[in-house]
Order: sequence, then C-alpha cells, then structure tokens
Amino acid sequence: MEAMGHEQIVFCNDPYTGLKAIIAIHNTVLGPALGGTRMWNYSSEAEALTDVLRLSRGMTYKAAISGLNLGGGKAVIIGDSRTLKNEALMRRFGSFVDSLAGKYITAEDVGMTTKDMEYIHQETDHVVGIPETLGGGGDPSPVTAYGVFMGMKAAAKEAYGTDIISGKKVLVQGAGNVGGYLVDYLVEEGAHVMIADIFEDKIQKITSQHNSVQVVDPRNVTSLEMDIYAPCALGATLNDETIPELKCQIVAGAANNQLAAEAKHGKMLLDRGIIYAPDFLINAGGLINCYSELEGYNRDRAMDHAEGIFDTTMTVLKASQLTGKPTYQIANEMAEERIEKIAQIHRSL
Ligand code: NAD
Repeated sequence: MEAMGHEQIVFCNDPYTGLKAIIAIHNTVLGPALGGTRMWNYSSEAEALTDVLRLSRGMTYKAAISGLNLGGGKAVIIGDSRTLKNEALMRRFGSFVDSLAGKYITAEDVGMTTKDMEYIHQETDHVVGIPETLGGGGDPSPVTAYGVFMGMKAAAKEAYGTDIISGKKVLVQGAGNVGGYLVDYLVEEGAHVMIADIFEDKIQKITSQHNSVQVVDPRNVTSLEMDIYAPCALGATLNDETIPELKCQIVAGAANNQLAAEAKHGKMLLDRGIIYAPDFLINAGGLINCYSELEGYNRDRAMDHAEGIFDTTMTVLKASQLTGKPTYQIANEMAEERIEKIAQIHRSL
C-alpha cells in the first residue's frame, strides 16, 4: 500500500459489542483532525484500511485549502449498517474517539444517522455535525451548496469574464440535498437549469418549487448541450468515457472525488480547455459548517466563510492559467504549502 504520511492509525476492537473500527489521523499540523465516521460492510479489514487512509488524507487537503485550523482524519466502522448497529456499539465507538482526547473529531458520514451520532456524543464531546436542537449546526447542505455556487461563479468569471451565470445552461446531476439548494441559487440568478436524478420524488420536490427547471434523463447526461456541468450525485463521473463527450466550458459541483483518476483526468480536462473547479475546494461548505460548531455555531459566519470559496477558486484558476498545471494540482500544492508554512512556524516556536 502507498505510504500517505499518516500520523496515527488506531484499530478499535471490542469483542463485547462486536465493534471493529479504524480511526485514521492523517495530519494535525493545522489543528485537530476532523472527518466523518463511515459505516460500511467492507469485504476485509485491508479494504477498510485503504478507504480510511485515503479519505483522511483528503480531509487534510480540504481543511488546508479552506483556510481552516483543522487537520485531516476519518473513521470507518466495519460492518453492515442495517444489521450491526446498536446503542452499545455506537457508544463504545464514542469511547474510542474520546480516548484520543480531541486529536480526532468525528461527524456523520455514509451509513450513519443522527441517532448514531447522539449515542457517540454520549461518550465524547469530540463530535460535530449534531442537530441544531443539541447546539450543533444541523444540515450542512445549504452551506455546501452556497460554496459550490461561489466556486461556479469564480469559474464563470474565468471562462466568460463575468461571474453572472444568468442565461447559462447549467446541468445539476443529483437533485438531492446539495443539488436542491444549488438549484435555488441558480434559478434566482436566472440560469437555465436542467436537473437529473434517478428518483422521481427528488425531481418532483424541485419542480414543484421551480417550474422553469428542465428535467433530463439521468442516463448519458455528460453528452448534453450545456455550459456548466455540476456533478452533485456520485464520484468518478469525470473519466475516460465522459470527458471526451463533454460540451461544457465549466465543471463545478458538490460530489466528492469527481475525477476518476486525479492526474489523468485533471490533465484531460485541462487539455480540452474545460475549467474544472476542484471538488474538495468548492464543496468544503460542509466542513466549514462543522468548523463553525467548534467556535460556537453561527450560520451567518459559516456562510461568510463559504463565500470565501469564490476568491480561493479564482486564485487556483489564475495559477492554473499561468502555469499550465491542472487546477486540482494547484489546489493540492496550495494546501501543502499552507501546512508546510504553519509547520515551520510551530517548529520555530
Ligand atoms: P444526497 O444523497 O442528498 O443527493 C444525491 C442525489 O443524487 C440523490 O437524490 C440521488 O438520488 C441522486 N443520484 C444518485 N445516483 C445518480 C445518478 N446516477 N444520476 C443522477 N442522480 C443520481 O447527497 P447530498 O448530501 O446532496 O450530497 C451530494 C454529493 O455531494 C455527494 O457526493 C456528497 O458526498 C457530496 N458532498 C455533500 C456535502 C453535504 O453537505 N451534504 C458536503 C460535501 C460533499
């Protein structure tokens, strides 16, 4: 397995509850390692380890590029989230999180529910993303959508010389939590919005609010005539098959890991002259929302911070233009540079 420079990896085993989990702390130079807990029925511990190492590293970059004083971490609970969960298992996991004394802060991810997070919270205070009723920030999706909208506007400024998206054809793939809020911003801006989803109820929720939105078939969306493609469903939609058929000038969406193979597909987009707003930069609103909880939650402050995604995206796009490097690479380098600079300050103290 490729070494990714993790600081600490904790294997959590508890025969009494049957808990098997891994907590990976990638980097804490900027602050405590924050990242969600994912519960998944991995086929092996090795597969779980690969996933948690990769995801925790990604969190380091996301926090660093977003200017947050946070490091990167992630946890995985191994097992079927539909059959294995119970209060004792979740609370035991919470006690493992607590044993790290705040070096790792957890949140909700795939396979976890608000109820599970409440159980974890009973054993540790090192949890964010908790409901508003418990003093948390609640649903992060509106903040994520706002950040994506800001990143999209920056890309529009680079492509068209204006950040006004009015009149542009924008495809939102995935009419879920983030996609829904993104559509609100786009309609308000006067964009021609197209949506695609595999579930009819998701589509209806949006069309009942916005009758100007055009519904498109979720299959082969990447070959549609459009100006801006906003992937807000799954990862890896930018790949060998889709990139050659894209007709848009911009890709800017919320989904994580949009590039199937970062180096290869980042370069393919650059070569095709398509502006790619790096996913981990423009979808950081959710993390920004969690960070705000650590300071005493304030939605306005979280939104203000997410607005800064416009400027950071502009910086990345300008540097890409200047150097000829793909945008994801520029964003990675900016994140690494920030971590290195702060590490140097800490070393000299
Ligand atoms: P969600 O589950 O609410 O929405 C995803 C939507 O995509 C669903 O409506 C689903 O039916 C649809 N979908 C699935 N497969 C599809 C396909 N092949 N074609 C079209 N639609 C399809 O999730 P979300 O919270 O809106 O998150 C969307 C994406 O953004 C995810 O990749 C998530 O990891 C990422 N993200 C979300 C947040 C957040 O704050 N929620 C933060 C950062 C990143």
